[in-house]
Amino acid sequence: MTNPPEWAEFDRYVSALFSLEDAAVRAGLDRARREGLPDIRVSTPHARFLELLVRLRGARHILEVGTLGGFSTTFLARGAGPDGRVVTLEADPHHAEVARANLEDAGLADRVDVRVGDAHETLAKLSGDDVPGFDLIFLDAEKHGYPDYLESALALASPGALLIADNVVWDGEVLNADSDDPDVRGLREFNARVAAHPRIAATILQTVSDEGWDGILLGIIE
Ligand code: SAH
Ligand code: MG
Repeated sequence: MTNPPEWAEFDRYVSALFSLEDAAVRAGLDRARREGLPDIRVSTPHARFLELLVRLRGARHILEVGTLGGFSTTFLARGAGPDGRVVTLEADPHHAEVARANLEDAGLADRVDVRVGDAHETLAKLSGDDVPGFDLIFLDAEKHGYPDYLESALALASPGALLIADNVVWDGEVLNADSDDPDVRGLREFNARVAAHPRIAATILQTVSDEGWDGILLGIIE
C-alpha cells in the first residue's frame, strides 16, 4: 500500500503548529541521518504524545526498550523533568553511541541511562539491580520480542504504571492470524496476553503517519 502523501504532510503541519522540533531535536535527527541510522523512529507528534503521557502520569522512573538515536528518549526525558530518570535499552552499540551524543547535546544526559546489549539480557539484569519500580514503560524494540518484554515489564512496573507499546498494528498485518512472520506472531501474542491479563486495563489506538498504518497499545498495570 502506498501511503497517501497527506499523512506525512499532516504530521509536518502538527510539528510546525505546536513547534515540536526545536534546535536540539533537529540536530539529533540530522546526526541520526548522517550516521546512517534507519528511519524507524516514532513520528514527531507521537513523540510529543509520549511526553504528554509522561506528564499526565507524573512518571519519574521510565523504562524504554529500543533507543535508536534517542529521539523518543528525548521526549520521554523532557516529560520526566530534571528529577526524572530514564533507563533506555539498545542492542546496537552504534545506535547507542548516537543516542548518547544526542542526549548530551540536548542537555539530558544526566537523566538518561543508555544501556547497551540485547534487552532480553539487560532487562534480566535490571530485575536483579536495586532499581525502583518504573511508572512508565515504553516498548519499541524488535517485535518478536514483545511477549518476553511484557513479562519483564510486569516484573519491573510499579502499581499503576503505564504500559505503552509501539507498532502493534504493523500495517494491519496483525489481523492475519495465519501469518508465520515472527514479528506478526510476536505482536499478536503480545496483544492477546495484554488483553487477557487480569492486572492490565488496555486498548489499542490505530494511527496513520508517514510510517504508514500502525498504532500503539496503551495500558495501565494495576
Ligand atoms: N524508540 C525509538 C525507535 C526504536 S527503533 C524512537 O522512536 O526514536 C528499534 C530499536 O531497537 C533499534 O535501534 C534496534 O537496534 C533496537 N533493538 C532491536 N532488537 C533489540 C534487542 N533485542 N534489544 C535491544 N534493542 C534492540
Ligand atoms: Mg516504533
